[in-house]
Amino acid sequence: MTSKRLYYQNAYTTRFEATIVERIRQEGQTAVILDQTYFYPTSGGQPFDTGTINNLPVYDVSIRESDEAVLHWLDTSELWQDTITGQIHWPRRFDHMQHHTGQHILSQAFIQIAQAETVGFHLSENTVTIDLHTMQLSPAQVEEAEHLANQIIWQNRPVHIRSVTLEQAQKLALRKLPPVRGGQLRLIEIEQFDLTACGGTHVRRTGEVGLIKIVRLARQNNQLRVEFCCGQRALADYRLKNSVVNQLANELTTGIGEVVESVARLRDEAKESRRKLKKQQEQLLYFEAAELLKNGKKVGDTAVVSRVFTAEESDAAQLRILANHLTQNGRVVALLGLAGEKSQLLFCRSQDAPGEMNQLIKPALQVLGSAAGGGTAVLAQGGGPGADQERVQQAVEKAERLLLGQLR
Ligand SMILES: [Zn+2]
Repeated sequence: MTSKRLYYQNAYTTRFEATIVERIRQEGQTAVILDQTYFYPTSGGQPFDTGTINNLPVYDVSIRESDEAVLHWLDTSELWQDTITGQIHWPRRFDHMQHHTGQHILSQAFIQIAQAETVGFHLSENTVTIDLHTMQLSPAQVEEAEHLANQIIWQNRPVHIRSVTLEQAQKLALRKLPPVRGGQLRLIEIEQFDLTACGGTHVRRTGEVGLIKIVRLARQNNQLRVEFCCGQRALADYRLKNSVVNQLANELTTGIGEVVESVARLRDEAKESRRKLKKQQEQLLYFEAAELLKNGKKVGDTAVVSRVFTAEESDAAQLRILANHLTQNGRVVALLGLAGEKSQLLFCRSQDAPGEMNQLIKPALQVLGSAAGGGTAVLAQGGGPGADQERVQQAVEKAERLLLGQLR
């Protein structure tokens, strides 16, 4: 037995009496079917109402496909007396009403401004969107549609609910005609603006929508997804954005109108600073290389240089540049290490210097507890887990001992 959907005629009643006509048990959950209900079940892009039945929370309201009965899901396995009191959670219901009527207004506005038809509608707790069957809309058209929609709201036009047969509906200029299985069709009319078939809950007059604001556009295949918010959500969105922009203006000690320009200038300055810093770091590495060579060991006519850096002092990229500087001139073997959250070894020699770097790297990495490395006789490198400077120093010293053996 299907229930009478009372919200079709009246979206404002939040408390009602009804009789249970069927109970369904499923894994500790209970669904009840009532002879009449004001609970809206998830359908047509609009989510279900929440609320209570005999003070027990209704956590879902769905439609049974076989007979379109409205199922009220309760997190209980208790038995019920046959008569119940239902209570609809009004803030959520009203939020849905504001957005659903707002959607009809906005959809019609996009038709009038840009001949763009709505092919999808989605309303959830976080976002409300319509999908327009169009590839291209200019920013001016979007603004015009938003403007028209708000005009309709402020004119406070009545929203009528009508019931017609399919035959009658076909003679009317409906924005959307759904597939009907026979019987009556429910129409929502925004007076002298929009007429469409719809089963959702709507406000009585457009003024109750309060405000429509388009917040985001996203292209998807050959459709345009328009995210918008109405009424209370638009206010919450405005509050958030107002607070963010005010904070930014304070931080930047500038007016709201200059925030974007200020951020762009900061970004450019930061880019320029990074460029300068990189250049100076490279210059510093030349001095570092010269200093290391001066203090390096001499084995025959080969200079052996070793040094372990902390993560604060250097990084992997700088280590490579330093190794390159060190081995550019003369016969040099450079054994470099980096301590930190990830340890690193880089062994490198001049083309004409003696020594087999690839034979040094594996035993040295073993000191760090790693086997992830390799290379050639000229250049070998590898990384290990986190290690302090002392530990990495031990690894480099091991390589140095092995190198001295090679050079003897
Ligand atoms: Zn609708």
